[in-house]
Amino acid sequence: TIGMIAIDAAGNLSGSCTTSGMAFKMRGRVGDSPLIGSGLFVDNEIGAAVSTGLGEEVIKTAGTHTVVEYMRHGYPPEEACKAAIQRVIKRNSIEKAKTFQVAYIAINKQGIVGGYAIQKGFNYAVYSNEINNKLIDSKYLY
Ligand code: ASP
Repeated sequence: TIGMIAIDAAGNLSGSCTTSGMAFKMRGRVGDSPLIGSGLFVDNEIGAAVSTGLGEEVIKTAGTHTVVEYMRHGYPPEEACKAAIQRVIKRNSIEKAKTFQVAYIAINKQGIVGGYAIQKGFNYAVYSNEINNKLIDSKYLY
């Protein structure tokens, strides 16, 4: 999945995401990408978030909606992503969660960005007037 979130000069938020790669394209499967609140959620009052990884686990926690709700309650984007990742872990054992990846990136109304993943290996690019295409290694839990 490729997820993109943005803020414009007027402070308006937007987001989009692709569907998954071939590995997840099984007949009849609906991944997280087409489900608002799972693969993508934007609330122009609060922030925006996108996900990648094992969509079933994102769907079961309404992952990106959860990220935005944490931001609504004052969490900075990185902390909001981390808290939503911990919700995924909580539904699974730690051992089970170490066998798959879920990652989120988020942006808030102030233009602060952050990300978090279950496992090492997820990174994301940030582009702005101040930061040009900087590739960030996401923090991760395990
Ligand atoms: N989230 C996608 C899915 O489960 C997979 C991916 O991130 O590539 O459909």
